[in-house]
Amino acid sequence: MTFALVAVNSPAYEKRAFFYLVPNSLKVQEGQAVWIPFGKRLLQGIILELSEQAPTDITFAEIKGIHSTIENAPILSLERLTTARFMADYYMAPLFPTVSCFFPPAFSLPPRDIYRTVLGTTKPQDEQKLDLFNYIEEASPTANMLKNRLIKGYNANLKALLQEGKVQKVHSLALPKVQVKTVDVFSLSISHNEAEQIIHALPKNANKKRKVWQLLLTSPKIDADDASSIRSYLNDFVKKGWVQKRQERILRDVYIPNCTDKIHRLNTAQQQAAQSISHSLKQNKNQSFLLHGVTGSGKTEVYLQCTQAALIQNKDVIVLLPEIALCPQTIGRFNARFPGQVAVLHSELSLGQRFDQWQQIANGQYKIVIGARSAIFAPMPNLGLVIIDEEHETSYKQQDFQPFYHARTVAQRLCRLNNATLVLGSATPSLESYNAAQRGILKLLTLPNRPDTQMPQVHIVDMREELKTNKRSIISLALQKAIDHVLNSGKKALVMHNRRGEAHFSQCASCGYIPICKNCDVPLAVHENGFLCHRCSKKYKIIDKCCFCDHNMKTYGHGTENIYRALQKLFPDARLLRWDKDSATQYGQNYLYEQAQKNADIIIGTQMISKGLDLEKVALSAVILAETGEGLPNFRSYEKIFELCCQTAGRAGRQSEGQVIIQTYNPYSYPVVAAASHNYELFFKEEMAFRRKSYLPPLCHIATMTASHTNTVYAYQTAQKSSKATSEAALKLKDFAAQIGTVAPSFIGKKDGKYRYGFIVKSIKPQQIIKEASLPDNLVIDIDHYGPI
Ligand code: ADP
Ligand code: ZN
Repeated sequence: MTFALVAVNSPAYEKRAFFYLVPNSLKVQEGQAVWIPFGKRLLQGIILELSEQAPTDITFAEIKGIHSTIENAPILSLERLTTARFMADYYMAPLFPTVSCFFPPAFSLPPRDIYRTVLGTTKPQDEQKLDLFNYIEEASPTANMLKNRLIKGYNANLKALLQEGKVQKVHSLALPKVQVKTVDVFSLSISHNEAEQIIHALPKNANKKRKVWQLLLTSPKIDADDASSIRSYLNDFVKKGWVQKRQERILRDVYIPNCTDKIHRLNTAQQQAAQSISHSLKQNKNQSFLLHGVTGSGKTEVYLQCTQAALIQNKDVIVLLPEIALCPQTIGRFNARFPGQVAVLHSELSLGQRFDQWQQIANGQYKIVIGARSAIFAPMPNLGLVIIDEEHETSYKQQDFQPFYHARTVAQRLCRLNNATLVLGSATPSLESYNAAQRGILKLLTLPNRPDTQMPQVHIVDMREELKTNKRSIISLALQKAIDHVLNSGKKALVMHNRRGEAHFSQCASCGYIPICKNCDVPLAVHENGFLCHRCSKKYKIIDKCCFCDHNMKTYGHGTENIYRALQKLFPDARLLRWDKDSATQYGQNYLYEQAQKNADIIIGTQMISKGLDLEKVALSAVILAETGEGLPNFRSYEKIFELCCQTAGRAGRQSEGQVIIQTYNPYSYPVVAAASHNYELFFKEEMAFRRKSYLPPLCHIATMTASHTNTVYAYQTAQKSSKATSEAALKLKDFAAQIGTVAPSFIGKKDGKYRYGFIVKSIKPQQIIKEASLPDNLVIDIDHYGPI
């Protein structure tokens, strides 16, 4: 007898796995999706393990049999299944959602309750009830759908309809959101001779029919989408048996930017890097590299040539980019070098597009997948190389929903299991990766120079001096002069400020009142057309006068919108472009990119413009205020300052000479000094000293533990009890280096109307302590947390 350990698709039971019996008639494998009886329902499950041994802790009578398979073949390869189980374990994440990361788009069909009309019942007389009845008949809605439709008095009417037995509540599964797309195609089912005879017998004036026949004779098949005007003829011919109609699958295309490709002869450093990586590929070794190359040093060319090396060995390649929309050139360059072999996976594609790309990848039709974070789950049949560009980017960590995984950690495990090579590339490596390179876990490859140009000169502008000269503008005199010079020579300037809107917040000048978001309890940012919560994006009407004391409100801090205006005033003839989340949502990244390339002299933007952008003619790049974000409770804030300054500087002078200006009130702080001198090692040394002193990653792992509840006292108490239990567990395990923080309101103190309290766990192995502590199920655990705490 065979037993299967199965993860179940039901939110209430997704944390653990259940045993099922495999009926003799059923052939199943590990990683296969199956239907399993669960309570009264049939639910989706994934087989995690098969074993001939009966589980010991369950009596036989409790074990049910698997109902049937969902697909014939396993949906996850063994390596991917093992990676998923590692993820669930390492991130202490619920099993099913973690395994489902590897599913095709929209494969997961969670259970839900829906309302249906009872078969054969009579319609109600009452008008309101009839309305509701008709809607239920047509839509089989869930409770939520009913609520959202806001049919007047629906609650009472629904109750009545249920009582009268006209409507019933039934268990069901969500419907698939996406399907294979097909189109009708028509083709001749008789011989050409027979067709000629029919044409011959047509009356003289049957011109249109004749044309249809000619079309049928000359084209092997006619696509229904192109044939709406002659569809009735074709249907008629089908009836007569002359033409056959069948359904053909069509694939939803994905746009890939056009790009010209120029293969470069690698310089010595690039060559050494490419050779090391190719060597690892040839040996089928699971080796991991850190490619540390200054901005514009030609890392992409190394990626391209290593990809070539992998393809020669018939290996598949995954390339991860931090944000797809910002890297059209990289995708374009890969596609130009390897035409037709590149698939793209990211969240801006439609579900249908993702579905088709996923299936084609699984079928082995593409050798290269380029995508954002989740592309690491692409089902490449023969994975040999994974490249993570800009590996320091925090967007590689999933932060919004579980599992809170980091693509780098997943890639490491996946590569190990596939004997694949991993390449992490960055101009500003994360402390974690550079530290791993120093310890020999990653092999360090360095590109210290740009191939053709020099690194741009960086000037630090001390804003305190500007204040002394009584110049209060956020644009320093030096920056103003530099922009002027750039514009006069027909070049472009890039101005980075990592904050959108008009101002950080608004405050009453008399009583100190600060408008805050009702959902999130955080101060509202000031935007041109209203207050905006940067956390939940809720908009509010702007107020000029305090609603308590009627005094004037005053705004504090700068955002891209008011920097735009300041620049507009200084340079009225220049063409300005604002590129931040707001304008990107409004116009789309592609449009902004095109404008930046063709119709802008000064580009003002948030960190979006500091990443990977390779614009022509940028001779100056500037950071408005290096220390933006320093005040946040985030131990990575210096790393962020250093990265933003380096990356922004990296945008300048990529084709010819460039200049960089960094404005700051803190000109001697090490992230600024190190960035200005392009000195990563200096930054690493100083930052490691700080991390060591404060026992922070990469010297330990940090986990945040969050309790949330509508009742603030209850949330606090849950966190408090859990913190105590965790401290006790650390002692019990004799992990004396571990540090368990005290309970405090989370950085996001309120979310979806729930209050949040939390504490942190710092240890070499926080998972061990947390497991030992047996904490409540509703405590949310985030291992290797990123962002403010
Ligand atoms: P990175 O990814 O390190 O920022 P890129 O790969 O985009 O850098 O390279 C920067 C520029 O240098 C590109 O325009 C690229 O075409 C060019 N380049 C790369 N390698 C070479 C080389 N060996 N010789 C000359 N130019 C090169
Ligand atoms: Zn909010």
